[in-house]
Amino acid sequence: EVDFEEHEDEESRRKRSKDVGLIAGHYNARPDVGPKQRLQSPIIGLKAFNNWIKAVLIGKFAHRALDESPWAGGRHGRGRGGKVLDLGCGKGGDLTKWAKAHVAEYVGIDIAAVSIDQARSRHAGMHNASRFPAFFAALDCYAHPISDVLPPHILAPPPGRPSERPNDGPEVFDVVSMQFCMHYAFESEEKARTMLDNVSRYLRRGGVFIGTIPNAEWMLKRLLSLPPDAPPRFGNSVYTIEFDDRRPKEERPLFGDRYSFFLTDAVENVPEYVVVWEHFLRLAGEYGLRPVYKREFHQVFQEHKEHPEFGPLMVRMKVMDSNGESHMDEDQWEAANIYIAFAFEKR
Ligand code: SAM
Repeated sequence: EVDFEEHEDEESRRKRSKDVGLIAGHYNARPDVGPKQRLQSPIIGLKAFNNWIKAVLIGKFAHRALDESPWAGGRHGRGRGGKVLDLGCGKGGDLTKWAKAHVAEYVGIDIAAVSIDQARSRHAGMHNASRFPAFFAALDCYAHPISDVLPPHILAPPPGRPSERPNDGPEVFDVVSMQFCMHYAFESEEKARTMLDNVSRYLRRGGVFIGTIPNAEWMLKRLLSLPPDAPPRFGNSVYTIEFDDRRPKEERPLFGDRYSFFLTDAVENVPEYVVVWEHFLRLAGEYGLRPVYKREFHQVFQEHKEHPEFGPLMVRMKVMDSNGESHMDEDQWEAANIYIAFAFEKR
């Protein structure tokens, strides 16, 4: 039995608000360097790989949900359509992927107001032909309902489909995406629940929730296999994960199991929280979300490297060159597998 009833003491409450400031401050301060300089990152291969993983998730799960959308055919008449909610959208790094998916409308929300401004500019700078209507807002999506910032017209139901869901809002979105950001909600049960409510409330039945999070099982295995007198820290030349202690799994808290994450040229010792998959599943189930996919990033690669669409996409997205030579060194390849990709369906 899992006990979700843990209460916070004053000390962790104080630490928590400091953590939120650290996380938002970190992402606000990261420069938006533009496409040329992005190519010079020392982990360009890893960044390209992460982008490819997101493109695979979108292709595998979001396309179908968008095709079947009650909004499909929409204002662009391009066949596909549908609405996407991107929580923790950052600087809008997935806007091009959503343009390729021919979304009818996109909503991007992030706690970092500077990132939201950059996402807005990136959207404004897209070619007219691929640009879609978009709405951006700055909000702590793990502490507040998204209805605080979304105008009523965005949360209106599709024509002819009034909501008959007593605990949910209208069926607005076909896809909710949370890329490399959901784990920040696992600081407390209250935040994880607020986040899941935001994910699920306006997601239509049959819609999908896709995301990427660190692989808790792998991290805890690495931590607990360190020699007894070693510090609670592991990593390689591109990443470091440092825990406060090395308590065994059964003694670790379900929420607020904090570690510090460093990834070269991306994340500088930001506090993050372990997401234990089984706990997440149980909680997500309470919000009508049924799991349909969970893979480590290495598995996603193995299963799609020869796929007729996603295989060649790896060359176009600069994960590898046309000779099949990877742009990641060994250390980047190891860091790539810190994460897992998932998809849920709304019942
Ligand atoms: N999803 C984007 C991507 O894949 O490029 C950005 C990922 S970045 C690693 C993590 C993002 O989560 C940051 O933009 C950060 O500001 C956002 N974030 C963290 N806590 C958040 C919160 N409470 N509410 C909304 N966004 C949050």
